[in-house]
Amino acid sequence: MRQPLVAGNWKMNGSLDSVTPLVEGIKAGLDSVTTAEMAVCPPYVYIPTVAALLAGTSIALGAQDVNDQESGAYTGEIAPNMLTDVGCKYAIVGHSERRSIYGESDAFTASKFAAARKAGLVPILCVGELLEEREQGITEQVVARQLGAVIELEGVAALGDAVIAYEPVWAIGTGKTATPDQAQEVHAFIRGKLAELDADVAAKVQILYGGSMNAGNAAELLSMADIDGGLIGGASLKPEDFLAIGIAANR
Ligand code: PEP
Repeated sequence: MRQPLVAGNWKMNGSLDSVTPLVEGIKAGLDSVTTAEMAVCPPYVYIPTVAALLAGTSIALGAQDVNDQESGAYTGEIAPNMLTDVGCKYAIVGHSERRSIYGESDAFTASKFAAARKAGLVPILCVGELLEEREQGITEQVVARQLGAVIELEGVAALGDAVIAYEPVWAIGTGKTATPDQAQEVHAFIRGKLAELDADVAAKVQILYGGSMNAGNAAELLSMADIDGGLIGGASLKPEDFLAIGIAANR
């Protein structure tokens, strides 16, 4: 059985004052989460503070992005080893906000994925279609292309040490969640595509759903066969909502 993962992407939210009550609130209710691994991805500058707050807990730490270079003249960027240095297990790569706002390509995302793995991080590879792409009926093509860039660079086996997050872009931060059937259809497509190349990887890889998952809709989404957890934006900023999603993953 794949262990569910519920990862919070705090995005560019919070302050030094707000991270402590947020983490303490999650810690306080953690006993009710019996099955899922919980993870939080704070803004870079708060990672050391959050790492100290998480010490001795089972909550994993992740970063929202990572650069593909090891070091050097890349002003403003953060290298994979810097993230392991401060206690990160996960790094999100290819979030749709990176792809759409900052123009990050499939190839750059794949390069980040490779660099993250090389440093010992578990990449959380985000894939997903725009609304117009769904309307054109090319969701599967888009997701296959995004996955294909990583497979081409790193080989399919690399996905066995990674997490995939299917995040339909039209559902992110919009309150418009994909229906469980819509999400399951794409999750099953992703697993099927991987199975064509490597059945073990396909059976093993956790595929998270992301896009307005919340306390109210999580149980139904998480009951689907190929949905192994969630990548949570807005609802990860409230401990009770984030915990409710973790509890919805109890088995
Ligand atoms: C996200 O940013 O990955 C996300 C899923 O955001 P939200 O839950 O707010 O839609």
